[in-house]
Amino acid sequence: MADTTIKIAYLYEDLMNTYGDSGDVKILRFFLKKEGYTTQIDNVSLGDPFNAFDYDFVFFGGGQDFEQTVVAKDLPRHKETLTEYINAGHPMLGVCGGYQLVGTYYKTNSGITIKGLGILPFHTVFKADKRMIGNTHYTTQWGEVRAFENHSGQTYFDDQEMLQPLGDMIEGYGNNPQDKKEGLRYRNFIGTYSHGPLLRNINVAKAIMQMILEWHEKRVTA
Ligand code: GLN
Repeated sequence: MADTTIKIAYLYEDLMNTYGDSGDVKILRFFLKKEGYTTQIDNVSLGDPFNAFDYDFVFFGGGQDFEQTVVAKDLPRHKETLTEYINAGHPMLGVCGGYQLVGTYYKTNSGITIKGLGILPFHTVFKADKRMIGNTHYTTQWGEVRAFENHSGQTYFDDQEMLQPLGDMIEGYGNNPQDKKEGLRYRNFIGTYSHGPLLRNINVAKAIMQMILEWHEKRVTA
């Protein structure tokens, strides 16, 4: 019998859940149900064991600087499994604080450097100018996206060939005020500053669902 349970790992759901990011997972659950799948969502929190390859999708939502410092201390345990998972091209979405923590570091406005997983070559810094808050609107390979951003970290890619931006800004800041680019795409890892939640943009939700279903098929038949 076909395995119709989609397993989602929600990293640190109890700590990283700002601005309704849990809505991304709820929207995926809604569309997956329409396709005949049930969804199991596991909160992988401080101290919990985790093997990314047990899952069809990994979600890492946004969080405040303080919560990010707490999470960053626990996170190195998962570096190996997440590195292999991302490099194998399996689907993961990191939003805002969760996106930042996949990079090498985030230097906050209080001068603290929060070490990231260092899986992908980008970094995030606070600069004196301003917090980036407001509506965003950008184009992606799946069409236009409208969302909301609220972050003080400015993200810069350290390897422009390896990393592709997720979108081109029409309105808002995205990664930083200079580049006019939003988020990141590397294989099937998507990083974004978009809350709202992002996946209320059905075009993106359906694209991610497709990635999830393709990986699910391979995972359960392996
Ligand atoms: N604390 C981070 C910043 O301000 C991320 C914010 C968020 O996840 N909403 O840049």
